[in-house]
Amino acid sequence: MDPTPNSTTCVVCGTGLVKNGRHPSGTQRWRCPACGASSVRRRPDVTRWEQLRKFVTWVTGKHTQAELDGTATGRSFRRQI
Ligand SMILES: [Zn+2]
Repeated sequence: MDPTPNSTTCVVCGTGLVKNGRHPSGTQRWRCPACGASSVRRRPDVTRWEQLRKFVTWVTGKHTQAELDGTATGRSFRRQI
C-alpha cells in the first residue's frame, strides 16, 4: 500500500532524517537534511485502533458518519470500516 518504509533514513539517499514539525493530522513529519525529501512514519496498529474507536462511537452514538471522519460525505469512514 505505502511504499515508504518506517525508518529514520531517507528513502531517496539513505541519510538520517531529522524531525520537521507536524503533519496537519498531528503526525510527526520527518525531513532529509541532505536532499530535502520529507516523509511521515505510519503506525498501522495505532491507525486500526483509531478506526475501531470511531466505529464503536458511530454504532453506539448519534453522530453521522460524516461528522466522525470530518468530511462532507463520510465516504472515507465507510471505506475504513
Ligand atoms: Zn535524502
